[in-house]
Amino acid sequence: LLFCCLGAIADAEYRLYKDPKKPLNRRIKDLLRRMSLEEKIGQMVQIERAVASAEVMKKYYIGSVLSGGGSAPGPQASPEAWVDMVNGFQKGSLSTRLGIPMIYGIDAVHGHNTVYGATVFPHNIGLGATRDPELVKRIGAATALEVRATGIPYAFAPCIAVCRDPRWGRCYESYSEDPKIVRAMTEVIPGLQGDIPANSRKGEPFLAGQHKVLATAKHYVGDGGTTKGINENNTLASRHDLLSIHMPAYYDSIIKGVGTIMISYSSWNGVKMHANRDLITGFLKNTLHFRGFVISDWQGLDRITSPPHANYTYSIIAGVSAGIDMIMVPYNYTEFIDGLTSLVKNNVIPMSRIDDAVKRILRVKFTIGLFEHPLADYSMTKHLGSQEHRELAREAVRKSLVLLKNGGSGDKPLIPLPKKASKILVAGTHADNIGNQCGGWTIQWQGQPGNITVGTTILTAIRDTVHPETKVVFNENPDPGYVKSNEFSHAIVVVGEPPYSETFGDSTNLTIPDPGPSIITNVCASVKCVIVLITGRPVVIQPYLAQIDALVAAWLPGTEGQGVADVLFGDYGFTGKLPRTWFKTVDQLPMNVGDRHYDPLFPFGYGLTTEPVKGN
Ligand code: BGC
Repeated sequence: LLFCCLGAIADAEYRLYKDPKKPLNRRIKDLLRRMSLEEKIGQMVQIERAVASAEVMKKYYIGSVLSGGGSAPGPQASPEAWVDMVNGFQKGSLSTRLGIPMIYGIDAVHGHNTVYGATVFPHNIGLGATRDPELVKRIGAATALEVRATGIPYAFAPCIAVCRDPRWGRCYESYSEDPKIVRAMTEVIPGLQGDIPANSRKGEPFLAGQHKVLATAKHYVGDGGTTKGINENNTLASRHDLLSIHMPAYYDSIIKGVGTIMISYSSWNGVKMHANRDLITGFLKNTLHFRGFVISDWQGLDRITSPPHANYTYSIIAGVSAGIDMIMVPYNYTEFIDGLTSLVKNNVIPMSRIDDAVKRILRVKFTIGLFEHPLADYSMTKHLGSQEHRELAREAVRKSLVLLKNGGSGDKPLIPLPKKASKILVAGTHADNIGNQCGGWTIQWQGQPGNITVGTTILTAIRDTVHPETKVVFNENPDPGYVKSNEFSHAIVVVGEPPYSETFGDSTNLTIPDPGPSIITNVCASVKCVIVLITGRPVVIQPYLAQIDALVAAWLPGTEGQGVADVLFGDYGFTGKLPRTWFKTVDQLPMNVGDRHYDPLFPFGYGLTTEPVKGN
């Protein structure tokens, strides 16, 4: 009796799990044994910011909150407002019996893109064109600082999809069609999380400190391989192809200490990935020894069945038994909690599975120092959209541009353009439009054209770059007569795709939307023209190629349009290389480097170079 009571008294005073000097595994074990089923299941739940509150966090022991898509605490919310919001939820979690902190996650996929005023970097396709993993690592580090500026420790990035078909609406989230490039670009993970020490246990999640954020490799696995590039669809592939094309970057990510892995909506050979126990528990956890936590995608369990949510109990069994540890519910959390609780009570899902999930979540939370630093302050807010990060983004833009044509054969190259000219025309729907420049996943989930955040448009950048005596005339959509009757020395036409994300970006024709093609034709008919394409992927360009004097693929460059002017006017040279094959016609798709019948317009790896010019 004495023993028991002394133990209880000691327990109230000293909680081993709260002691950062104790070994990680003992902390996890100590905390787990204290937890009720309710508290354990709560840890497995991630809810949307819009339905979260301190009360909800406390009442349901919720383990995590997210900003889905463009879910912000208010339009143009300040970093301080973000910190206050995150801390508000955290205080609810800290007031529970065991005080287990929640972890807040957000889609920071090209910089801290949800937040007004953040530096928006080129989307991954542009970074693939740089062939520069060290640059990508620095971008990861800058992104980490900006995410921390808003009090958030966790990013749903990087997307390590190997996009095999540009008709896919998420192709721009993929670094390349070539698994080798995607593997190299996992250097973004040590950028986000810090460099894992050499003697680390393989598969162990890692974070270097409070200036870093937890990363997510997504979407496991085969998201970029679906038939005809249809989003969330089926990837038909042999196990050999899956393991050699889509899987290797996961291995690299695990070696680099990635903390979490997100499951793909897609299926592999007809089996929904969210229900694929063989690949999640079998391959990821048992074979590759991943020790962080596996997170579902947004309503990923619901979509195990068609129609979604047709049989939620079944979905919970299939998803949790497959090995998913944290569930992005994100609204109907009581339904999920009740469902999982009764499945455990009825021995359908064993307690050992719940314990595995919770141990992994706690391992991550201890590792990233959440128990010691649960609340953020305003000391990091200065990093959001800092000058240093904008310079880095500008460098990335410069290196991401791919020069596909530069004058006809025998002609003098058009680029670098002279800074001193009498009068130049800048035209096109994307020349003076930050929203178009940034693409999807910017402020809003789908992105949005227009003046949506702080940055430099390509038009402004051109104006700031040319000689003071050069007259720059902007006409978004000029008619042929206008172009002809003005004496322009040359023209820069910036056209491309509107912002989109996920399924909304799926395309069967990959044409440049109107009025893009007619602007190209109207301008190029009467003046030497450079076409700058703002696009998430190769698009149909062959029919216009003969009229175009110079062609630049600028991808989705983000907020720093100055990088485009830097290379057009020769302050820097063009160095980017195609991270994807550029097709002639869509009926060639899918077509990837190494294919037997490879007949591209521009092959994978293509890209003309120019030398910087002094005193231009
Ligand atoms: C996307 C994920 C994203 C999640 C949370 C899903 O629709 O597929 O990439 O991380 O939403 O916003």
